[in-house]
Amino acid sequence: MNTVNKPFLAKHPNTLKIPPLGMNAIGLEEDFCRYFNHTLGWDSASVSSHHVYSSCALVLRDRLVERWRRTQRAYNESDCKQAYYLSLEFLMGRALGNALLNMDLQGAGAEAMRNLGLDMEEVQELESDAGLGNGGLGRLAACFLDSCATLQLPVTGYGIRYEYGMFRQKIDHGHQLEEPDHWLRNGNPWEIERPEYAVRVKFGGRSDFYIDAAGNTLARWVDTQDVLAVPFDMPIPGYGNGTVNTLRLWKATATEEFDLDEFNAGSYTEAVAAKNAAEHITMVLYPNDASENGKELRLRQQYFLASASLQDVLRKWVHKHGQNFSGFAAKNCFQLNDTHPTCAVPELMRLLMDEHGLGWDEAWEITSNTMAYTNHTLLPEALERWAVSMFGRLLPRLLDIIREINARFTREVSMRWPGDIDRERRMSIIDETGTPQIRMAYLAVVACHSVNGVAALHSQLLQQHLFHDFFELWPSKFNNKTNGVTPRRWMASSNPLLSSLIDRSIGDAWRTDLTKLTALKGFAGDKKFRTEWHKVKQSNKQRLAEMVASDCGVEFDPAAMFDVQVKRIHEYKRQLLNVLHVIHLYDRIKRGDVANWTSRCVLIGGKAAPGYIMAKRIIRLVTAVADVVNHDPATKGLLRLAFLPDYRVSAMEVICPAADLSEQISTAGKEASGTGNMKFMMNGAITIGTLDGANIEIREEVGAENFFLFGLTAVQVEAMRGHYDPAAIVANDADFPRVIHLLQSGHFNLFESGLFDPVVQSILNPNDPWLTAADFRGFVDAQQEVAAAYRDRERWTRMSILNSATSGKFSSDRTIQDYNRDIWHLPQVPAHVE
Ligand SMILES: *Cc1c(COP(=O)(O)O)cnc(C)c1O
Repeated sequence: MNTVNKPFLAKHPNTLKIPPLGMNAIGLEEDFCRYFNHTLGWDSASVSSHHVYSSCALVLRDRLVERWRRTQRAYNESDCKQAYYLSLEFLMGRALGNALLNMDLQGAGAEAMRNLGLDMEEVQELESDAGLGNGGLGRLAACFLDSCATLQLPVTGYGIRYEYGMFRQKIDHGHQLEEPDHWLRNGNPWEIERPEYAVRVKFGGRSDFYIDAAGNTLARWVDTQDVLAVPFDMPIPGYGNGTVNTLRLWKATATEEFDLDEFNAGSYTEAVAAKNAAEHITMVLYPNDASENGKELRLRQQYFLASASLQDVLRKWVHKHGQNFSGFAAKNCFQLNDTHPTCAVPELMRLLMDEHGLGWDEAWEITSNTMAYTNHTLLPEALERWAVSMFGRLLPRLLDIIREINARFTREVSMRWPGDIDRERRMSIIDETGTPQIRMAYLAVVACHSVNGVAALHSQLLQQHLFHDFFELWPSKFNNKTNGVTPRRWMASSNPLLSSLIDRSIGDAWRTDLTKLTALKGFAGDKKFRTEWHKVKQSNKQRLAEMVASDCGVEFDPAAMFDVQVKRIHEYKRQLLNVLHVIHLYDRIKRGDVANWTSRCVLIGGKAAPGYIMAKRIIRLVTAVADVVNHDPATKGLLRLAFLPDYRVSAMEVICPAADLSEQISTAGKEASGTGNMKFMMNGAITIGTLDGANIEIREEVGAENFFLFGLTAVQVEAMRGHYDPAAIVANDADFPRVIHLLQSGHFNLFESGLFDPVVQSILNPNDPWLTAADFRGFVDAQQEVAAAYRDRERWTRMSILNSATSGKFSSDRTIQDYNRDIWHLPQVPAHVE
């Protein structure tokens, strides 16, 4: 600490005393003008809309910082247990609207802007999404942070401050184009850089073993190439409670010493190049959803996050408790969001042993008692494995530790099942069949005291299949935590009309206790209420129709049913099945089979991983079918199809309030949970879905009569393998052959012959893992029931209300309370009042 600061700190022990910031329109307006005129250096020649947005954001950030300090003081003073959510992804979306809502400044903010001749809704549109995630897994992390702050739990998120987030998707002649997302171009007014907490992260080099004065053999990691991890903090406000938690994102930069050596050697350009190489680590988010990638840079990102975050937590500990770690496990826990941050296991071992002098047993006790693992997928292509050779080159000391963990674990297995060599081989953390690879999921299961899946079916399948051997060894480690989503962003903020209707009917307590929505059940039979509910949905549909018109150039009529499937494009999610149904409807129209027709507008959106050829082909199919359907006069007033480009959080905020039908049609057993399904349900969409992921629990909550079920079960899917005959299924169906014929005949690809041959082949392949043909008939029939139900507006609206009314379970507040009750055991700590 700089000595100049001593008298200053003595005078202001906690904080500089200043009057609280104004929380009314006048206070906001004054501060806005000050930021606009002074801080952002306004002059009439350079005024731009991002100055308006930035001023507005800074006004709100000041108010967040005020509460942030009080919250962190309360945590420090209570010396409470804290949890750390480690995730390579945080799909935060926009922050401005969320800050307004959670600090109860929506009214004052709108008034302040109005007084200035601005419109708060337009200002909010100026913010670019913080797209630091792929899809569900990253958005879950964001919803969890909101719930932790709202429940006043001392939880910090740790992640990576990617310079480029999820790519922006453009559609060009029906094809996906990826454009870099330079979301920081105009600065990020929400973040605060904390260079004083930078830490050094090592790569490369070798392990060096030495004997200390007491005769112990110790290890150290030497000859490394280091990078500096610099934290940037983002405030995470709780809803209406004065709590502000922290999301700490790490940026990689070159270490000063590294630069200095080069400078001293006179290699100016090499020094600058080194800085560049270091910064590569946090340059870009890997855009693969549910598929591992095996790239060295990705492993660097993972270790970088794990090491920086653990060093940060250990620094805080040592500052308070010195080198005594006996109480560490009682005061700290780490939740690993999938295996991505699993390097934290060997890294915590290394830090405790090599840097803080603990023995193996003591370090293992602490590591296993503090680490908990959440699995997000059963798909084999998503299970992370690292080649031992690459891992050892990049992280040699960690490889030593993993080998030791595995040796000790293998001994435990052989004691429990003596002579069962096959089981030892199966369960080994290092897969020695072929080129040796580290199975990160097994490492996580072995080291963590808790292993959870994200929906009841998923957790059950984990225990029965992927982790069955481990479940037999340690049954009590395994548990389920069904996902949830935050009702603040996904209802209160994105669906103001529905929120106000609900407030007027049952009060506003649902925002922090979503089970309160059950009181809506009593209104489902009330004709007047149903009319109001329907009116709200229609205005939300009008808003979405405007977005579809401007982003897709397709006219959606709000009088039609809005049938929506938005999510990452993946074969297991079966956007293809959805398109087959659209083609079937088109075929019916062409045949004149339109008696008792229900007019439909089908919306499909989502990004394909840039290297996922089949996913991109499916996007091309959607756009091709849309072109034909939308331009055929016969479909007028009956059917529309649009592909929405650049599906992202801020788009979903417009989409989910406006959907009538929510498509959740994955092959049973493949979707771990889904969370899009929950956002739709809350907003009164009715689900058409398979018995997969959280769909099962959604159907349980709302009742079978308010859910359109179809398709094979997970058990039937597995039983079907080996004697699946899609050609016979097609041939024996009344409608399927015509759909396949339209695809094969070039009807949708007149000028690109063969374009959809791979798609047809995938449907007709007896080894199709997603069994698309098997569920075609069930899907078409269920859609026929949907159409009939929609024609009965009173019945449909009743179902819609009941979906919302029974969505309480799917609040991420409930999920976080489950994590806290079973795994974290944190106290609720209200923010300090000054
Ligand atoms: C909720 C959400 C997801 C997850 O959707 P699923 O249907 O569960 O796959 C993905 N992306 C965004 C932008 C979301 O908001």
